[in-house]
Amino acid sequence: MKYIDEFRNGTVAAGISKKIASLVEGHDRITVMEVCGSHTMSIYRYGLKNLLPKNLRLLSGPGCPVCVTSTSYIDTAIAMVQKTNSRSVSEKEVLVTTFGDMMKVPGSSSSLEKERAKGAAVAVVYSTLDALRLAEKHPDKQIVFLAIGFETTAPTIAASIIEAERRRLKNYFVLTAHKVMPPVMQALLKDRDLDLDGFLCPAHVSTIIGSRPYEFIAQEFHIPCVIAGFEPLDILLGIYMLIEQIVKKEASVKIQYSRVAREDGNQKALSLLERVFEPCDVEWRGLGLIPKSGLKLRGVYATYDALSVFRISDFGFRINPEIRNPKSEINGCICGDILRGIKMPSECKLFKKVCNPEHPVGACMVSNEGTCAAWYKYGET
Ligand code: SF4
Repeated sequence: MKYIDEFRNGTVAAGISKKIASLVEGHDRITVMEVCGSHTMSIYRYGLKNLLPKNLRLLSGPGCPVCVTSTSYIDTAIAMVQKTNSRSVSEKEVLVTTFGDMMKVPGSSSSLEKERAKGAAVAVVYSTLDALRLAEKHPDKQIVFLAIGFETTAPTIAASIIEAERRRLKNYFVLTAHKVMPPVMQALLKDRDLDLDGFLCPAHVSTIIGSRPYEFIAQEFHIPCVIAGFEPLDILLGIYMLIEQIVKKEASVKIQYSRVAREDGNQKALSLLERVFEPCDVEWRGLGLIPKSGLKLRGVYATYDALSVFRISDFGFRINPEIRNPKSEINGCICGDILRGIKMPSECKLFKKVCNPEHPVGACMVSNEGTCAAWYKYGET
């Protein structure tokens, strides 16, 4: 298959692994973080860790959009669908629409899936267009779309708002918790518990933002970055390009994924983002509030902002103060430390015992891109 098979060639993979091994031979432990959840899944799916030398450690970072969605965001979404409260805000029922992987993410005491089972109005959609269609079809309902994810998904949400404006829809809203990558990478580099030698930068995000936004990482922190694709050879080559820099004590931003990612990114998507969103501080599950790491709707689009239209205080909703503490996770779950790269799923006493993809205790076990889910699925111990 063109553009797939050539990136899964076992002989070439073995050759690159050999080159990596000879580069790191005699060096102390080298630690590289893959920031993206899709990289994490590929690394486990293709058994890439087995191809790498023992003194090269791969860590998974906070790049799974579902995993980093805060407990308070889920609580807010749940508050919106709790029927008794929604009536006090508007005569129209609120229907929350979301991608399926958000359904099981735990809030402080429930999940959207559990609320739906109790009769709450929650619908799984496959695109923002589906949510817009629902808004058109049900003018008697307030349609709220749960807008999570990084620079990859935010342009599609921006486009949906512009489209809602064009169609003059008055009953389409988004509850935004978008996040952007460079600030969280900076936060990780300032984390004293974490000792990193290089970043494997996310592929999809980088096709939107390009390579320039990572340059401060190389310049200020002297940490090399490589934008790598998701196929096994992309990842191995990306690691090789990182190790080359690490052993030479160099630091720059390189693009392995040159068939898609460019230095300047995707200007059309970036101008959509710029038009609809502006930077804001946002809470990351397990990492706390990170300045300028989020995107909120610009004032001119405030009528589409679920948070300002449906004031949460009107729902009689109170956020549990213990859950607001980012280090405090639910029932012994250590997702926060896993997302910071300082603990592995096997160090969680709940892993595989009471926490599994069918009954996830924490967000890292919910999404396909979560580290705990990857360990569970591919039999890591
Ligand atoms: S195994 Fe489950 S409970 Fe433990 S950190 Fe992962 S998601 Fe949380």
